[in-house]
Amino acid sequence: MKILVANLGSTSLKWRLFDFSNNAERLLHKGGFERVTDYPKAIEDCMAELKSAKVITDENELSAVGFKTVIAKNVTGCVRLDEHVLQAMADYNGLAPAHNPPYITGIKLFAQRVPKVPLIGLFETAFHQFAAPAAVNYAVPETWRQIGVRRWGFHGASHKFIAERSAELLCRPDVAERARQLYVNNGATKISGAPLRVISCHLGGSSSVTGILNGASIGTSMGMSPQSGLPQNNRVGDLDAEALPYAVKTLGITIEEAQKQLTKQSGLLGLSGVSNDIRDITDAANKGNVSAKLALDVFVASTRHWIGGYFLELNGADAIAFTAGTGENSAELRAAICANLANLGIKLDADKNQSARATESIISAADSAVKIFVIPANEELVVAREARRFLETRKN
Ligand code: AMP
Repeated sequence: MKILVANLGSTSLKWRLFDFSNNAERLLHKGGFERVTDYPKAIEDCMAELKSAKVITDENELSAVGFKTVIAKNVTGCVRLDEHVLQAMADYNGLAPAHNPPYITGIKLFAQRVPKVPLIGLFETAFHQFAAPAAVNYAVPETWRQIGVRRWGFHGASHKFIAERSAELLCRPDVAERARQLYVNNGATKISGAPLRVISCHLGGSSSVTGILNGASIGTSMGMSPQSGLPQNNRVGDLDAEALPYAVKTLGITIEEAQKQLTKQSGLLGLSGVSNDIRDITDAANKGNVSAKLALDVFVASTRHWIGGYFLELNGADAIAFTAGTGENSAELRAAICANLANLGIKLDADKNQSARATESIISAADSAVKIFVIPANEELVVAREARRFLETRKN
């Protein structure tokens, strides 16, 4: 069974092709294009590359094309991307303006190009769907809650991979299996041992921290939109709701302009004034740029704030896991996030931390009660696995 996972940006197309034949999981091919101006051509070129690499001979060999879809109105989980779901995604374009429109366009183009191949989406909200009401409700009037104003949470594929992989690293196959089966039986799989508590830190171009109990999310730092929680690359993260009308009035700008500034000129870029990339910001901070140092400090403080919240909710933690571009690569930020937590049983091994770059590693000290992991993100594999399960179990 060959499943292509397509990652759609407004000007990029990246893909990975997995083969699940003979009960194995193999990555057959990965590739992508940046600065795409002609999407139909990019899809055509993707198919041509798969054929010239001899990993498929015909598009119809694909059992599915899987997508890491972001958010849709009243739809989550792993679903067939039909007209109804595409409309539900369009209904929430405003919540994910950078993600939903290119996905809808791309999915329609794939539907035209490979009409016989099922298109399957794993929504980024899915992993958080079993979080308790106390974790997802905002304190807004009933009428607001009725129209879907609540925390949804994102980065679901990444946090789910952490749930599965961290359980394996902690020698808890029962919890790894529960995490794998989460969307099949809504978390009904029983575990046999003590509760397993993991805090997953997805720190990258966009970032979120999730508390994971027995392989399922109990809550996450992102809220109704990906425009919340930690400071993001260009997006503000958490902001007092009153700040928006105050800035509109005081700066004399329109609400649209304010929204643009909060999504394009805020976050790490807005704070540092240097870049939206942690590498550039770290370089500038090391050269004495005060704003760059502030951006890093705010990012670290926000990450610690959410880790602290889940540490309390989970009554401690068996592991903290770092993943995504920054989490996997920046030893400096990992050290800052884990600094002075020995009283909580969280101790980094400085040398192991320093040498861990984008490879799976245990970076906690030998006497740290809480294990600290670096786990490279593997969101596409999660999408492919769920698409496979969808095909095998739902047959619709
Ligand atoms: P992602 O969203 O997972 O692709 O992560 C991309 C982000 O990771 C970039 O915007 C950088 O801020 C960050 N990043 C990538 N490589 C490094 C690195 N070597 N050190 C620090 N941050 C990095």
